[in-house]
Amino acid sequence: MVAKLDGKVAVITGASSGIGEATAEALAAEGASVVVAARREDRLSGLVERINGNGGKALSVAADVTDEGQAHELVRRAKSEFGRVDILVNNAGVMQLSAVEKGLSDEWRRMFDVNVLGLLYATDAAVQVMKEQGSGHLVNISSVAGRRSRATTGVYSGTKFAVNAISEALRQELLEDNIRVTIVEPGAVATELATHITDEDAKENLSGLLSLDILQAEDIANAIAYCVTQPERVSVNEILIRPTQQP
Ligand code: NDP
Repeated sequence: MVAKLDGKVAVITGASSGIGEATAEALAAEGASVVVAARREDRLSGLVERINGNGGKALSVAADVTDEGQAHELVRRAKSEFGRVDILVNNAGVMQLSAVEKGLSDEWRRMFDVNVLGLLYATDAAVQVMKEQGSGHLVNISSVAGRRSRATTGVYSGTKFAVNAISEALRQELLEDNIRVTIVEPGAVATELATHITDEDAKENLSGLLSLDILQAEDIANAIAYCVTQPERVSVNEILIRPTQQP
């Protein structure tokens, strides 16, 4: 049986843990060659070994997406190793929640650098390749926070509202190039994401939500696999997935 993504090449940022790691495994299981990127190389090597050990094709590239040159080099490596770039999953992200009045400006900068500028740098590089190929698919990981802002999520929500705004513009700009754009908006998922929050009030705020039966990274990976395995005429523009009990 031919797997749905046979012959396709997917680049996944933020693949050293959580949703990115699960997505790499899901797309490799559908037959894609996957290029997995993040800063923690040891975590990427383990993932690559697992995928290759299961008969898949994976390559790791250490990349900090906030560095424009490294984001472009990631896409260049994917093309030079595997010949094309069909799918880019812009997943790398950080969430350092706090009330705006706390003034944690280093964390504000980090979130905009990774969640917004990192996405733009990788997208810019991938779109050039996809245009030459005549097709491609950008999957941008936003959040429920990209639809609604709450106390302590303001700046993080700002980055994810930006992801949604940029994604819809890209969709319109690229449709004639046969490049699809999908926004994926997860609710709470059990990953390392919340462990980087430094503000105690924000941690406390989130604790009730995290005590629910929240999503697993595989749940989002399955949704991404669904979006990228549809026939070329089908563009899933937006997909919002909450844990059943999330308010
Ligand atoms: P994780 O913390 O498990 O994963 C985040 C990934 O981003 C890691 O692989 C990390 O790798 C990578 N990353 C962070 N900074 C950089 C950087 N500068 N350059 C390259 N990679 C970077 O969290 P999730 O899997 O949950 O997060 C994935 C995405 O899902 C994020 O965009 C997040 O906002 C979004 N999301 C998550 C939700 C959740 O509840 N978990 C809900 C809604 C959206 P490394 O540190 O090795 O560089």
